[in-house]
Amino acid sequence: MAKIFCVANQKGGVGKTTTTVNLAAGLAKVGQRVLVVDLDPQGNATMGSGIDKRALTLTVYDVLLEAASIPEARQRSEKAGYDVLGANRELAGAEVELVELERREQRLKTALAAVAQEYDFVLIDCPPSLSMLTLNGLCSAHGVVVPMQCEYFALEGLTDLVNTIKQIHANLNPDLQIIGLLRVMFDPRITLQQQVSEQLKAHFGDKVFDTVIPRNVRLAEAPSYGLPGVVFDGSSKGAQAFVDFAREMVQRVGAMR
Ligand code: ADP
Ligand code: MG
Repeated sequence: MAKIFCVANQKGGVGKTTTTVNLAAGLAKVGQRVLVVDLDPQGNATMGSGIDKRALTLTVYDVLLEAASIPEARQRSEKAGYDVLGANRELAGAEVELVELERREQRLKTALAAVAQEYDFVLIDCPPSLSMLTLNGLCSAHGVVVPMQCEYFALEGLTDLVNTIKQIHANLNPDLQIIGLLRVMFDPRITLQQQVSEQLKAHFGDKVFDTVIPRNVRLAEAPSYGLPGVVFDGSSKGAQAFVDFAREMVQRVGAMR
């Protein structure tokens, strides 16, 4: 049975999509069966996995509206080594359309249950908001992976996310927990980043993943080639860190099962 994780942080540009596609590729590399669900209307995880979002006839939008099943709507990314339930701009409309519907926050959970046997991991790339889309992600998941940059305001934003997760845990999804905080775009030469990193560990302890993702230009270049950095340049420092992170996730999840 798949373990399902949201990659979430309500801030934009913090590395959610980079984490989703590279963790997925890293997990595939170590032999895991992976589905990536793109819940962001920007479709960056879709494009970054080598799937052209403009060419899709069925996406996660159709799945949320129960007009298609996941087996009908998913795509295989041969190069990346995992499956993708893609998204494009159409998904922005789901926000409004779902409000009218029953079980509106449970749509993705129901759809994923039908394919849970086919995967070891499902990774959901969330948009930068606590919207109905993110709510669908959080209601489906066993855990949340929170990528964060070690900057001054990072801890402040985290409080809101932690409170939201607590509320969803209490009211909608008793399985939900923060599986871990991932330090991304890390530059050890910057003293402030080291300080925030230490504060994070002091405050969140074991919830902070051991693996640290460095700032690495190859990770930033990879999406323009339609590839996760792990596949684009496997020898880069960023790619190696994500493969290490995939191994750490497998271990952490093993301890959860
Ligand atoms: P989000 O999905 O949270 O909006 P992205 O994953 O799209 O964030 O990352 C924002 C930007 O930062 C992108 O241009 C991405 O290529 C770049 N980026 C993310 N992680 C790294 C990293 N470890 N090193 C260098 N650039 C990165
Ligand atoms: Mg993104």
